[in-house]
Amino acid sequence: MPELPEVEFARRSLTRWTQGRSIVRTEADPKARTFRNSKVSDVEALEGALVSIERKGKYLMLAFDNGKGAVAHLGMTGKFIKRPADATEKWSRARFVLDSGDVIHFQDPRLFGLIEPVPASALKMNPAVARLGVDPLVDGLSVGQLRDAIGDSKQELKVALMDQERIAGLGNIHAAEALFRAKLHPSRKPASLADDEWKRLAKAIIDGITFALDVEDGEEIEYVEEPGAENPFLVYGHEGEPCPKCTTAIEAYTQGGRTTFVCPSCQPKSAPSKSSKPRGRKRA
Ligand SMILES: [Zn+2]
Repeated sequence: MPELPEVEFARRSLTRWTQGRSIVRTEADPKARTFRNSKVSDVEALEGALVSIERKGKYLMLAFDNGKGAVAHLGMTGKFIKRPADATEKWSRARFVLDSGDVIHFQDPRLFGLIEPVPASALKMNPAVARLGVDPLVDGLSVGQLRDAIGDSKQELKVALMDQERIAGLGNIHAAEALFRAKLHPSRKPASLADDEWKRLAKAIIDGITFALDVEDGEEIEYVEEPGAENPFLVYGHEGEPCPKCTTAIEAYTQGGRTTFVCPSCQPKSAPSKSSKPRGRKRA
């Protein structure tokens, strides 16, 4: 499922493809649920030059020069791809035809993606966008911002990191990766974190996102769910394989209904305790 880096990659691609160009026609598959309760005619009215393409969490906000706009979400399998005029694309739910003749397809096999026409002036007030928490790339993520975002959560750390109303953009993959980088067990509670652990976590979140954006010089990360795809992650999808730092076998368990990956050596379950009691749950 696309997370912040993949959506940011989509934003950068769309920006590049539409720079100096104009969308002369938009086509929408009337049977696709991509547009939910919007009128297909409103989707097909999206045309003109794009003046901005912004991202908050996993949402894209497209603003046109004529005041029209759209909120888009890639859902589980959505993807924007540019093709020549005559190319057909499987699972193409919407097509933005450029004045160059090229076509940007919104391809979405599983139809969890969304394109919703919203006036450009109202994009950030859209309820789906307005509820989102701090975005680590757009807003930055200092130690203070991270503590403000999840410090009061009673949830386990990984579940709190994936709460879009607290931090926008992290999903199952990048929450697991950040916790591994920060050497924190996913089941720790935010209240148990010491100052240096907060620092490690803030850095780890940014490092993980930066790494994902840099993979293959901007090429999109292949999801491990696709058979045969290379898995670029440190722990995600690596159950039973040696930890890249200490070679202990990576373990997997279910947390909040999702599979979590953890190195039992690098990410001890208990908070470090000065009294060295086995269940030392010190409060920060
Ligand atoms: Zn390890």
